[in-house]
Amino acid sequence: MDRRFDKAIEVLKRGKRFLVVSHVGPEGDAIGSLLGLTLALRGLGKDATAYLEDRIPDLFKFLPGARTVVHTLEGLGPFDATFAVDCGQKDRLGRDFVNLKDPGCVVNIDHHATNDCFGDINIVEPGASAAGELVYDFCKAASLEITRDIAVNLYVAIHTDTGSFRYSSATPEAFIKAGELVRLGAEPWDVSRRVYENYPAKRYRLLAMVLSTLDVIEMKGDGRIATLSVTLDMFRKAGAEKDVADGFVNYARGIEGVEVGALFRECGALEYKVSLRSKGGVDVAEVSRTFGGGGHRNAAGFTMKGGLEEIKARVIDAVRGRLTNGQKV
Ligand code: 5GP
Ligand code: MN
Repeated sequence: MDRRFDKAIEVLKRGKRFLVVSHVGPEGDAIGSLLGLTLALRGLGKDATAYLEDRIPDLFKFLPGARTVVHTLEGLGPFDATFAVDCGQKDRLGRDFVNLKDPGCVVNIDHHATNDCFGDINIVEPGASAAGELVYDFCKAASLEITRDIAVNLYVAIHTDTGSFRYSSATPEAFIKAGELVRLGAEPWDVSRRVYENYPAKRYRLLAMVLSTLDVIEMKGDGRIATLSVTLDMFRKAGAEKDVADGFVNYARGIEGVEVGALFRECGALEYKVSLRSKGGVDVAEVSRTFGGGGHRNAAGFTMKGGLEEIKARVIDAVRGRLTNGQKV
């Protein structure tokens, strides 16, 4: 880890113009890590551009620096180096980044076990609860000042990716770093209030429609899989953007006896984004990898072409195979 940090610090020292990027469909860790690192670079007097292909969900717009994020790279560059955070595959960093001719040295800072090490320097630690933890480590290693604004971003990254410190990823290190970030100015209740007590009413209207699609499938005594689906028509009826459905998949996993929850989100003509959540007995990152996606053991996803029923059947089959392969704990 230290040698890779040393190389990244060298890149930091040598460069002036940096790009910071994260994945499409950004959530708390992607946005918090992106903004935390961007603000740290700016604090050093560097020119740092933060790019996300997709909009920032309303719930995360309060994060310091959020308004400075750009959604196109047209006319920008060249960059001395690019920091990619919380992303396992280059193609998930957005079209403009993939097409960018001069990203400079690419530093890949991530915690996905499925990361394919697309960077020139790869700081990939699956043991980290969030990319935000690694950005914290990097700031420490590079002696970058963690201001209150940076602390809020990195705290949100760790808080959201550990499911509010409920997941097995909530290691002593995650608690220690989160504690330090609170000492540096992140306020737990202020963050909770803004992220978890601030949903638009349309989220509940959408949820009502989504819950009516619930299907719980028995798996021959080996646990169950529960599925939910959300269609473009439901988004239209609720007047909601696609990110308003973030987290709905947890309602499927949260059912007694269910090992794996799945959410199928229609994203175009015969195209679905599939989100999988496991209680631990099935490695859904492995399942997702077989469909061209990735993620973590307990939270993973992919995009698939086809009709809803066909995709559902294929995913259920893949999970069934894993449940009966003796992988259940
Ligand atoms: P979500 O279901 O919330 O979109 O994503 C859960 C986890 O799976 C995240 O860690 C995310 O990065 C990963 N993931 C989701 N969709 C994809 C995908 O299409 N490809 C890859 N490689 N990972 C994904
Ligand atoms: Mn993450």
